[in-house]
Amino acid sequence: MAISAAETGQERQARLRTLGPLGRLVPFVTRYRGLVVGACVALTAAAVTTLTLPLAVRRMIDHGFSDSDSALISSYFMMLIALAGMLAAASAARYYFVITLGERVVSDLRLAVFSHVSRLSPGFFDAVQSGEIVSRLTADTTQIKSAVGATASTALRNVILTVGALAMMVVTSPKLSGLVIAAIPVVVLPLVAFGRSVRRRSRFAQDTLADATAYASEQIGAVRTLQAYTNEALVENRFAGAVEIAFEAARASVRARAVLTFFAIFTVFASVVAVLWIGAADVLSGAMSPGTLGQFLLYAVFAAGALGALSEVWGELSQAAGAAERLTELLAEEPQVRAPAAPVALPEPARGAVEFRDVSFSYPMRPDRAALEGLSFCVKPGETVAIVGPSGSGKSTVFSLILRFYDPQAGTVLVDGVDIGWADPRAVRARMAIVPQDVTIFAASASDNIAFGRPGAGAAEIEAAAREAHAHEFIARLDRGYDTPLGERGVTLSGGQRQRLVIARAILRDAPILLLDEATSALDAESETLVQTALERLMEGRTTLVIAHRLATVLKADRILVMEDGRIVEEGTHESLVAANGVYARLARLQFDHGAGAFGRAAE
Ligand code: ATP
Repeated sequence: MAISAAETGQERQARLRTLGPLGRLVPFVTRYRGLVVGACVALTAAAVTTLTLPLAVRRMIDHGFSDSDSALISSYFMMLIALAGMLAAASAARYYFVITLGERVVSDLRLAVFSHVSRLSPGFFDAVQSGEIVSRLTADTTQIKSAVGATASTALRNVILTVGALAMMVVTSPKLSGLVIAAIPVVVLPLVAFGRSVRRRSRFAQDTLADATAYASEQIGAVRTLQAYTNEALVENRFAGAVEIAFEAARASVRARAVLTFFAIFTVFASVVAVLWIGAADVLSGAMSPGTLGQFLLYAVFAAGALGALSEVWGELSQAAGAAERLTELLAEEPQVRAPAAPVALPEPARGAVEFRDVSFSYPMRPDRAALEGLSFCVKPGETVAIVGPSGSGKSTVFSLILRFYDPQAGTVLVDGVDIGWADPRAVRARMAIVPQDVTIFAASASDNIAFGRPGAGAAEIEAAAREAHAHEFIARLDRGYDTPLGERGVTLSGGQRQRLVIARAILRDAPILLLDEATSALDAESETLVQTALERLMEGRTTLVIAHRLATVLKADRILVMEDGRIVEEGTHESLVAANGVYARLARLQFDHGAGAFGRAAE
C-alpha cells in the first residue's frame, strides 16, 4: 500500500516490537485532564479497597471464629459491607470516567483523521482507495475506543493490583512470596513474546479487512453497473475471497491470543497452587497461622488474577497499537500540494487571467509518462477558450493544474499574474467555479446541493441561481421543492436536471474563472437547449476554459486550443483551423460525419 510504501521491512519490524504507536494517542487523551484524573482517582480507590479485603478476612479467621464473639464478627461484617460500598462506588466512577474518555478520544480522532484526509491532495487518492480510508475511520477507531477506555483502565487497575498484592504478599509471608516472585519471569516472558506476534497478526487482519471494505464500497457505489452487467455472482465471489482472507487473518490473530491466554492462566495458577502446597505444610507444622495463610492466599489469587487479566489486556493493547499505527499513518500523510509559509496574495479585485508557461507534468502514479509537455498558453480576462483534442491528450490535466490539485514538474501556472505555486491553493480555488463532466450531486436537499457553491448563501440567492440555471422549474415541481432530498449521487434526477443543478451551484459561486468540462452524453433536444442556455448565462462576464465536445461550443469560443499527446498542436478559430487542414480539421470532419457526436469520442 502506498501509505507505507517508503518504509523498509526492518523499520517496520522495529516498530512492531512495542506498543509505541499508542503513544501517539497521548495528545488526544491529555486534552481531557479532568476525565483522566477522575479515572485515575477512581481506579486507585477501587484497587486499594480490593487490597484491604484480605486483611479483614484474616482477622475474621484468626480472631472472629476462635473467640466466638458475635459482636466482633458483626463489626467485621459491617466493615466488609462498607468496603463493598466503597468498591462499588469507585468501580462505577471508574467505568464512567474511562468509557467517556474512550468515546471522547475516538470522536476527536475520527474528526482529526477525516479533516486531515479531506485536505490531502488528489494525488494521494490516486493511490489509496476511499473504502480503505473509511475502514480506518470506523473499524480502527472502534478498536482504539476499547483500548483507550476499557482496556487501558483494566491494565492500570491490574498493574496496581499486581504491585499492591505482591507487596502485601511480601508483608504477609516473605518466604512464600519469594517463591511466587521467582515464578514471575516464567509468566511474564511468554506474554511479551506472544504480545508481539499478536500485534503483527492483528495489524495484518485489519489491513485485510480494509481491503474487503474498500472492495465492497466500490461495488456498492456502482451497483447499477454491477447489475446491468449481471456480474453479481462474480463480484460476490471476489468479495467472498476478500472476506475469507480477512477471516483467516483474524483467526490467526485470535489463535495467537488464545495461546497467550493459555500460557498466562496456566503458569499463574500452577505457581499459586505450588506455593499453597508449601504454605499448607507450614500451617500444619504450626509455623504459620491459618488466617495468615488465608490472607496470603487471597493476595496470591488477586495477583494471579491481575496478571492473568494483564495478559489479555496486553493482547488487546497490541491490537489497538496496530490500529493506532494505521490511523497515525494517515495523520502523518503530508499533502503533496501545500501553501507556502508566506503565501503570495492574489491581486484584488480578481481579473480572471490564466497563463501556462512551458508547463510539463506527469502524474505521480505514472512518473515516466508525460501527461503535459512544454505547454504554454494565455487566457485573457473574460475570454472563452475551448480546449479540444483526442481522448487522453491532457485536457482534464490542464484543469487539475489550474486548480492546483498537482504541481507541475517544470514551468509555471499563473492566475492573475501570480505563480500559483507561491499562493495558497485555497485562495486560487476560490477564484474558480467548476462544472465537471461527471456532475457531483450529494445525498442532500436540492438547496444544500446548490449552496455547496457558496456555503451560507440565503434561500433567495439559491433560488435566483436556480432560476438562472433553468433549474428552478423542475426543483419547484419536486415533492418538497428545494428541501427535497436528491438521493445518493442525485439518482432521483435526470441527466439534464443534474447538469442544471450543478450549473446553478457554479452560478452561485460567482467566481471569475469558469472551468467547464462539457458533458459528452447527449441529452434530448429540449433538455440540451435548457442546459446550453444555462451555460451561456454562467459564462457571461467570466473567463471560461471549456473542454469542448460540441460544435456549437467551439463555434462560440473566442479561441480554440487543439491538444494532442500533452502538447498544444494548433491554435486559432474554427474557420482558421479548418482552413489549416490539420488535427482540428480532422476532428471537425468526424464531428460533421457523425452528426451530433462529441469531439473526444469521435476521435477515439
Ligand atoms: P478525455 O477527453 O478522455 O477526458 P483528457 O484529454 O482529458 O481525456 P487527461 O485526463 O488529461 O486526458 O489524461 C491525460 C493522460 O494522463 C492520459 O494518458 C491519462 O491516462 C493520464 N492520467 C489521467 N489522470 C491520471 C491519474 N490520476 N494518474 C495517472 N495518470 C493519469
